[in-house]
Amino acid sequence: MKKYYGMAAAGFLFLVLLTIQVNRVTAVTPTKNGNIARSTDQTVTSATTESSSQASRENAEDVQEQAAVSDEVNEENFPTVSLDDWSLVLVGPSNKIEKEIAQKDLGKLSNGYLVDQRIVSSYEKLADAAKAAGHPLAMVSAYRSVAYQEEIFNANVNTLMSQGHTKEEAIRITKLTFTEPGYSEHHTGLAVDVVDQDWYQNHTGELLNEGFGDTDGGKWLQAHAREYGFIIRYPKGKHDITQIDYEPWHLRYVGVEVATYIEEHEMTFEEFLEEAKEHIAKKEAELSYYELENPLEENWIYEDSLAKSQKSSDRPQDELLMNGGNLFAKNAFSQTKEVKK
Ligand SMILES: [Zn+2]
Repeated sequence: MKKYYGMAAAGFLFLVLLTIQVNRVTAVTPTKNGNIARSTDQTVTSATTESSSQASRENAEDVQEQAAVSDEVNEENFPTVSLDDWSLVLVGPSNKIEKEIAQKDLGKLSNGYLVDQRIVSSYEKLADAAKAAGHPLAMVSAYRSVAYQEEIFNANVNTLMSQGHTKEEAIRITKLTFTEPGYSEHHTGLAVDVVDQDWYQNHTGELLNEGFGDTDGGKWLQAHAREYGFIIRYPKGKHDITQIDYEPWHLRYVGVEVATYIEEHEMTFEEFLEEAKEHIAKKEAELSYYELENPLEENWIYEDSLAKSQKSSDRPQDELLMNGGNLFAKNAFSQTKEVKK
């Protein structure tokens, strides 16, 4: 009997040594050609297939869920935008301009005012359409440099100080009517102040008055500026968001698609940008989920399993033996069979 125990023990030891060897070879062989490595690959692949069939069921449910969500998104027709787009730059009371437009990038409108040259033709088309509709436009202001804003801001402060106000008082009062240098959308070259000729000639004293919004010309701009890529940047009743009162004369270029979306949804540019951020974050999350569940490269699975195997060689001895044992049962044994043939 002792002899049998001895043989059994020797056999067991042989198996253990062999499995350790198998495990080590599997772990370090970076090739798919060897039987052992290929078996490991197949094991991993079949395990992955199992989990993918489960995943595909989950995916099917998710696809239904996502379809419901994208129906919502499609209903809204939310434009595909990049927040880095030049036409979506945000400059305002809480957003100082980061980089002023270079002089060479300014273009002259037919009325002599300067804007970002990329919006010259859009504005000209708007002006032509307004004229054709019986509301020829009159421009009051377009691009303003930070230096120019500083000049007019300081001039107003000095006037108030000469009238007896303290400097702090003078600055506070000036801020009520002048945008602080660096914080005006006019610095971007994408904003213009326009009224129609009728208003321009009859309201010289209070050219920029919100009453213009109630005129036919003001209503025409509100309804049609979007067709040329412009929005009424500071709508009525949105001061808490824009920090600027209703200005029916202040148009801002954002592109036709975005302008149409903003005006149709009666939202502010700030609200649009927030929504765009959410859409982009959601799309990125969906994309990384898709990549996780649908790896494109089989190599990716293989390399990942290889990395895991290499790590497993650092595991405590008995755990290694267990893994080796599994491997032996699944692969090494069938290999022996083949050798026998
Ligand atoms: Zn303006």
